[in-house]
Amino acid sequence: RKNFMKLTFLSKSTNEAFARVSVASFVAQLDPTLEEISDIKTAVSEAVTNAIIHGYENQEGIVSIETTIEENKIEIVVEDYGKGIEDVKKAMEPFYTSKPELERSGMGFTVMETFMNSLEVYSETGKGTKVIMTK
Ligand code: ATP
Ligand code: MG
Repeated sequence: RKNFMKLTFLSKSTNEAFARVSVASFVAQLDPTLEEISDIKTAVSEAVTNAIIHGYENQEGIVSIETTIEENKIEIVVEDYGKGIEDVKKAMEPFYTSKPELERSGMGFTVMETFMNSLEVYSETGKGTKVIMTK
């Protein structure tokens, strides 16, 4: 059994909750545990927040999320078409943040890695960022 959804929305912080709840309700058909739902919501929230505050630096842009389920596997792709990341490896290090003045802790990618089974990040400066997570 395979299923798929795609969501596209404006990079407004009010849409972060919408994104998180939408993905959670889509994956509910797999009868996940409360803990699994909570992990997925946390990871989606971090990826979408990054797209909004780093990808678009709070300017208007498009964020898209694709969620695919196949058997009991979930793949979530969060994508923005914003500024991109120069050094992905460095960005993924725990405590690295380019915005310490905003009281960011630099733990977003670490949280995604911890709460999901896999995390891949592809980015190109000036083109955008794609985050692929599975559970
Ligand atoms: P926190 O998530 O703890 O609030 P943070 O967002 O700075 O802090 P991460 O989520 O781990 O930490 O991201 C690390 C860094 O990677 C960011 O500071 C930013 O420079 C860069 N980054 C992450 N996502 C994006 C994105 N979608 N577009 C551009 N840069 C990004
Ligand atoms: Mg973050």
